[in-house]
Amino acid sequence: MNKSDFNRFCSYVRQIADLLHLKDWRIRIEVDEAEDFDGFMAVVHPIEGRKRARLILCKEWLELSPEDQRHSIVHELVHCHLAGAGDIVRLDLLKNMSQSSYDIFYGGFKRQIEYAVDGLADAVAPLLPLPR
Ligand SMILES: [Zn+2]
Repeated sequence: MNKSDFNRFCSYVRQIADLLHLKDWRIRIEVDEAEDFDGFMAVVHPIEGRKRARLILCKEWLELSPEDQRHSIVHELVHCHLAGAGDIVRLDLLKNMSQSSYDIFYGGFKRQIEYAVDGLADAVAPLLPLPR
């Protein structure tokens, strides 16, 4: 991705984040040539306790359709709204559970979060602008 495409995408992500009421979040965008995305197109890493996140796009990002790019951006940004729930489960429940119980519980929790996030992205993404 050249600098012009990257800057254009940063502006687009900011626009979508604002529309998703994440105006007070700082979203740092990266393109990662090496990260294993395990079939995903992007991944978001909210920073614990902060309204900040790293949004990492796969190296094939520009090959995706505008609709897939929009859905993926919305999906990753919706995760920011649920970051606090993940922090509570990850940081507080582990203190009171055995590792094996925690692994089972947290695996189910993460799967349910993905269903919820993707359902919300399915509903909301078509209402938002496409990337140019
Ligand atoms: Zn997700």
